[in-house]
Amino acid sequence: MFVHGCFWHRHEGCRYFVVPKTRTDFWMEKIGRNVANDERQQEELRKQGWRVLVVWECELRPPQRERTLERLFYSLTAPESEELEC
Ligand SMILES: [Zn+2]
Repeated sequence: MFVHGCFWHRHEGCRYFVVPKTRTDFWMEKIGRNVANDERQQEELRKQGWRVLVVWECELRPPQRERTLERLFYSLTAPESEELEC
C-alpha cells in the first residue's frame, strides 16, 4: 500500500495539489517523473501478483479519514472481484 502526498504525486483535482507559480516547468517535470515512477512501480508489483492500494494524503485527513479506513478494510478483506472503486 502506498500513501501518496497529494502534491508530490499529482493528485488531480485535489485541493492540496496546486501548481506552483514559480519555476512551474521545473516542478511539473519533477512531479511528472514521480508519477511515471509510481505507475512503473505499481505495474511491476501487479505483475508479481501484489494488490496495489493507493491512499492519498488528503484521504487521511479528517473528515475523510474514517471513510478511507473503511474502504481500505473492505479492499483488504473482500475478494478481488468485489474490490470497491474509489
Ligand atoms: Zn489529494
